[in-house]
Amino acid sequence: MQVDEQTLIIFYNPQCAKPNYQRMPAAILQVASLIEGRFSYEIVDGNLRSEVSHAQQIVDKVHHKGVKYLAISIMPGPQLVSTLKDLRIIKKHCPELTVIVGGYFPLNHYQVCANDRDIDYVIVGPGERSFRDLIVALETGSLPETVSGIAFERNGELVTTNRSHPMNPNHLPRYPYHRINVEDYVLPTFLGSRTLSHHSSFGCPFFCNFCAVVSLADGKWIGETGERLGELAQYMVNKWQINALEFHDNNFFTAEKRVKEFCNQLISRNLKISWWGEGRADTLLKYKDETWRLMRDCGLKMVFLGAESGDDETLRRMNKGGKQSASGVLKLVKKMKDFDIIPELSFILGNPPNPVKDMKKSIKFIRKIKKLNPSAEIIMYRYDPVPVGGEMFDQVTKLGFSFPTSLEEWVDPKWRKIQKRTTADVPWLTEKEQIFLAEFQTVLNAYYPTSTARHIKPGSWRYWLLKLVSGFRYHGHFYFRPYELNWLQQKLSYQRPEISGF
Ligand code: SF4
Repeated sequence: MQVDEQTLIIFYNPQCAKPNYQRMPAAILQVASLIEGRFSYEIVDGNLRSEVSHAQQIVDKVHHKGVKYLAISIMPGPQLVSTLKDLRIIKKHCPELTVIVGGYFPLNHYQVCANDRDIDYVIVGPGERSFRDLIVALETGSLPETVSGIAFERNGELVTTNRSHPMNPNHLPRYPYHRINVEDYVLPTFLGSRTLSHHSSFGCPFFCNFCAVVSLADGKWIGETGERLGELAQYMVNKWQINALEFHDNNFFTAEKRVKEFCNQLISRNLKISWWGEGRADTLLKYKDETWRLMRDCGLKMVFLGAESGDDETLRRMNKGGKQSASGVLKLVKKMKDFDIIPELSFILGNPPNPVKDMKKSIKFIRKIKKLNPSAEIIMYRYDPVPVGGEMFDQVTKLGFSFPTSLEEWVDPKWRKIQKRTTADVPWLTEKEQIFLAEFQTVLNAYYPTSTARHIKPGSWRYWLLKLVSGFRYHGHFYFRPYELNWLQQKLSYQRPEISGF
């Protein structure tokens, strides 16, 4: 791993994953790829070595290595909590340090970030060019307002600059892997004993109004070519002996031609890897059977799909777009069973204007899916607004919902609960209704244990025990207070992918 003697910039990825579930910090590597060789930098990952105080480590580096800029990548939820804790410590000891933040949280809440006393600049939009140009401007004494895609506060006024355009990922240099110890991110997952991850495209062509990606992508999608992905897979196999690859794109399967090209690359290079990616049901339903066969034969094991709802009217309100429909999801679930590829379906339940009716309808739909394809994975989330507007957002706003106005408020217990999507004080669902949803989830997850859990392999005694104990509840639609299942899941260290990843 390369470490420069003098360091101008520290990229910091605050803790957000459980130990041994950390993924490669792709967003940071992508931004760093554009300043490689031009500015000195280091990457500090708070998800590694939990025994170390990363804030203290950064303070020491600032004092000893001449660091001037701290660039922090922030996702909403637990990462925001670790960020704020560390940021306050770092700035207390290094008041001269310039702090730049980017990622989904700052993108969607840039006013709150720009307003924070310890943050100097916010990257709003695709970050590679904006970050590089901002450092150039600050280092050469140019005005930051000449840089596209940033926000900051000056004399109490919020300054925002023009939106920046995404870069074609095919024109970006390869990730500077030599800046991290890649072995730290090679993990055993249900896909394979040596799994790495990659982000192979920018954005998504859709505008779902519950999705934070919309503010970033603005309807644009650009993917790395299948050939480039083949080269990368080859490189990863040769260098780190991977046997599995996760694609963390927002919408990996947007272009059938590219996916076919990637599969053909795997064949021509004789690469035997399992892989996983995220896609849309309506897009994948259009794929030809020969492509499905090709994907299966080339190691595609599971696809994450935003099913969102079993109700077409709710899909319309979500602005899900395309040709997505409940019947289409059922068709796809059946098709994937035929091709032996697991659909991992995520749902958003409790949507306005009638959250309870919506919840019950989707629960019925989920049961239907499980009957059709028992190996389908189900991930459930409660509806929570994102600031991209839309019919549902307007409705919850009318009910009195508003976002916090400071980072301190964002990390207070009420908002932590909302971000963790556990039972929380939200005006569109009562506590009782949220508990009902959580109870159904407990019973469903016990009766159909996820195949991605590391400690509960399908067919193992733990797997059958969960099924046996939960069977009468699932078949009897009896979800009330499943204390015994909560206890059992805890005893068996049952991990859910939506909580800790694979
Ligand atoms: S298709 Fe998926 S990634 Fe794209 S906007 Fe909708 S939810 Fe977001």
